[in-house]
Amino acid sequence: MTRKLDLRTGRPVWYAYRAPSVPTGKLTRDVKTDVAVIGMGISGAMIAEALTEAGCSVVCIDRRGPFLGSTSATTALVQFEIDQPLSLLSLKIGKPKAERAWRRSRLAVMNLKAHISELGIRCAAETRQSLYLAGNILNASGLREEAEARRQAGIGATYLTASTLREKFGVERDGAILSPDNLALDPRKLTAGLLRKALARKARLYAPVEATGIEDGREDVVIATARGPTITATHVVLATGYELVADLVPSTNHKIISTWAIATRQQKRALWPGAAFIWEASDPYLYMRATADGRVICGGEDEDFTDEAKRDMLTAEKSERIARKLKALLPKLDATPEFSWAGSFGTTVTGLPYIGQLPRHPRIHAVMGYGGNGITYSRIAAELITSTITGSEDSDAGLFSFRR
Ligand SMILES: Cc1cc2nc3c(=O)[nH]c(=O)nc-3n(C[C@H](O)[C@H](O)[C@H](O)COP(=O)(O)OP(=O)(O)OC[C@H]3O[C@@H](n4cnc5c(N)ncnc54)[C@H](O)[C@@H]3O)c2cc1C
Repeated sequence: MTRKLDLRTGRPVWYAYRAPSVPTGKLTRDVKTDVAVIGMGISGAMIAEALTEAGCSVVCIDRRGPFLGSTSATTALVQFEIDQPLSLLSLKIGKPKAERAWRRSRLAVMNLKAHISELGIRCAAETRQSLYLAGNILNASGLREEAEARRQAGIGATYLTASTLREKFGVERDGAILSPDNLALDPRKLTAGLLRKALARKARLYAPVEATGIEDGREDVVIATARGPTITATHVVLATGYELVADLVPSTNHKIISTWAIATRQQKRALWPGAAFIWEASDPYLYMRATADGRVICGGEDEDFTDEAKRDMLTAEKSERIARKLKALLPKLDATPEFSWAGSFGTTVTGLPYIGQLPRHPRIHAVMGYGGNGITYSRIAAELITSTITGSEDSDAGLFSFRR
């Protein structure tokens, strides 16, 4: 039903921090529920929390366990600024749709932040500005146009000249866009917090349980599992991350690539102003953020292949390159990696995800094609899928649907 990928290797920085435990049970007999969620990463957790809040009964399963997939490898820059600049996305899908996708991403990050605070989840969530540096995709004049396009769409963006950038942030580039209101957080703690909320609302969590097949009928869907018991649900959500495959899901322009990241030790000296996220309008791009206790996480060096063995062989070399680039950009930092890891990563041509009901399978909902904004898209998925399952319409559903 899904392929098995080695989603990540190495030691992600999140293992330096303790996430609350999430109790799971053994699936020993057939069960029934309103909604079955397959996958207990950050997507499944957001969806389970949202559905239980809406009053649905929920069963979650995962063949590994909670947050053992790519959720542990993420660098967790939760940005409304999606990978495709608004000015370039407008050329691909038209200005009205591109503006809506950007606005919806902005709303999703705001909603996520508010929800974390309402639920009282302690996941080191902090609002961050971000600096988007001129590069080989958008140079300084391209960035000026991008800032203007964002302002026309009602999205705050300030263009910084090279001298302002140097003065304010000590960074040498031809120009940058400064944006407010992105979100830094600890992804394992957030996922654990959301799953624990769902549990408190009587969700049933089973792991390790592997879904091996799905049969959908007029009234319900039956999930077969590797050890025998079945799960019968009115709806199923495939929150299976990058392991989702195309036997049920229509083929999309979605592919899996490889990426690398490092984290430094806690920096003795102050970090750059506001510890803003920094990323480049380049391909491949470098990006960085700080943890709440002052480590610097830096990632990038993406390569266009899936092969996990090849990916892992490159980790030492890629870590060194990332550390060198980090030091070149911010020379005062100690860029020595204390953590280095590699992961698989899904991308789409437009950078927008596929979220929603599978064509001809209205009871099966899927989330796929995450790009560098997977967590923002997980939140959008939780909002859209909860609306569909509870019978209300979301006016942005068409932007992300499999039929678009
Ligand atoms: C190095 C790296 C850096 C990243 N940085 C960012 C970033 O800065 N910002 C951002 O927004 N995103 C980022 N991403 C992307 C983000 O991490 C992903 O979008 C996100 O982790 C996906 O979460 P998920 O819950 O959908 O998938 P996962 O966490 O992989 O969870 C899917 C789960 O489904 C389970 N599963 C699969 N098949 C089955 C089955 N048949 N039966 C039962 N269970 C099954 C798996 O075991 C897994 O636990 C990054 C990714 C990587 C690798």
